[in-house]
Amino acid sequence: MPPSESAHESSNSLHQTSLPCDWETEVDPPAGIAVIGGGATGIEAALYARFLGYEVSVFERFRVGNSLQRWGDLPLHATWRQLASTLGLAALEAQGTLTITDLDQVPSCAEFLEQYLLPVAKTDLLYHNIHIQSEVQSLSRLGLFADASVPAADKAELEFRLLIQSKQRGPYSQIVDLVLDCSGLAGRRGMAPGGGHAAGEMQMLQRDPQEAERRWSSGKLKSKELNALGGQHAVLYGSGLEACQNAWNWRQAHGNSADSKLTWLFPRRRGIPAAQKLPWQLLRELGLPADFDLEAPSTPISDSLAQQLGTWDSQLRQLREGQDRSLVMMEVWGLESIRSLETGSWQIEVQSQLAETLALECDHIINTAPRCSDWSFASPIAVNAASVEGFTSEPHYYVLGSKTQSLFPSAAASMGEQIQNGREQIRLALAAIGGRSELNLYDTVRPQSY
Ligand SMILES: Cc1cc2nc3c(=O)[nH]c(=O)nc-3n(C[C@H](O)[C@H](O)[C@H](O)COP(=O)(O)OP(=O)(O)OC[C@H]3O[C@@H](n4cnc5c(N)ncnc54)[C@H](O)[C@@H]3O)c2cc1C
Repeated sequence: MPPSESAHESSNSLHQTSLPCDWETEVDPPAGIAVIGGGATGIEAALYARFLGYEVSVFERFRVGNSLQRWGDLPLHATWRQLASTLGLAALEAQGTLTITDLDQVPSCAEFLEQYLLPVAKTDLLYHNIHIQSEVQSLSRLGLFADASVPAADKAELEFRLLIQSKQRGPYSQIVDLVLDCSGLAGRRGMAPGGGHAAGEMQMLQRDPQEAERRWSSGKLKSKELNALGGQHAVLYGSGLEACQNAWNWRQAHGNSADSKLTWLFPRRRGIPAAQKLPWQLLRELGLPADFDLEAPSTPISDSLAQQLGTWDSQLRQLREGQDRSLVMMEVWGLESIRSLETGSWQIEVQSQLAETLALECDHIINTAPRCSDWSFASPIAVNAASVEGFTSEPHYYVLGSKTQSLFPSAAASMGEQIQNGREQIRLALAAIGGRSELNLYDTVRPQSY
């Protein structure tokens, strides 16, 4: 790869950290590092740290590259050259699993996953360090409570305790020296007004996870989930791209069936009716600037994006204007409460006006509300400052990858640059941890094939 096009050099939106660290960032290998999240950033961070000799454990609550898997054949917005790191390519080459032939091609999300992320995760360096179906549920600092006012330099001496809920092992804890939080935009999706949780929402999901899994979906429905909605009354909550996709796909699958019903609830925000927000939310989710004019675009966009956008716009119009009695659309402030009925269905209380609720019965809930990504996994750690580069006020706790975007919307990279930005954060964080500001494995470790 020509040096001028290497991944870290093309990412110019990050600068040296602005957050003063009054503790020693340097921690020698083989200290223990927990990486929370097995997405593009988590796997890359784990690989970098393993190369430097740290003990690494990656905890992924679903599977490696879960979001990429969900987006499937959608094209990424960058080429292999920008997406795959020199370090990752070198690791694949050493393992004999390098199959990417043309670095200037744009892969789909699934191709990036199959040809890069999963093979990197399966290299000898990482394979035994990745724990899938293992959710980090709590994070604390050994020997300290949340209200402890302890100088950062003293905190830096204390290890972290993670509580992990593993599908295989059940709950267990692990002690580590450093945490790289690469948990992305994932987080709970509350359905109450303002994005909080409705009464009974969390209890219901926790009380009977298997039942909840069968009758509760988050995000975009898979075809199996969609098929299972035949003959049911499903409630869809949300107003973003995933909600639109679900509504459209539901209509294709069940729109003509008299015994299937979908109630689509749009969460309202003060000042702006949710229904009016829809196209704007869509634009943002498709990676376009907020002031993009759908009718008269002034910014050039790629043909595939324009096509995608046009399709969604016309589908939305059809859904809004359609006379389907089986698909009801309603603006609400949120859900007040959820409870299960003896009949096996659920009763939800919908807050339709500020001081008015109405009750609905349904068989299935599809929640696509925006995720609230909280810092600390319901933990006693209060991180109260952070920098775009990934440094936080909590010693040895770094936030890397797309999670930083949610904390710093103003500094958000375009969709095509997020993975590169994450890599630059990884480089900066591990240079600080390694105690060598000039440390840059993306320069020193390169594949021979390109
Ligand atoms: C159509 C499309 C095209 C895109 N194109 C590009 C592109 O060209 N270039 C680019 O840079 N970006 C692109 N993006 C965005 C890119 O996919 C994201 O930037 C990238 O996935 C972010 O990776 P991440 O590792 O930060 O977060 P994620 O991929 O969201 O990974 C976070 C992981 O953490 C896990 N997790 C969350 N909480 C916990 C917990 N408590 N315990 C354990 N695990 C947890 C999640 O399950 C998830 O797997 C595109 C996105 C879309 C939708």
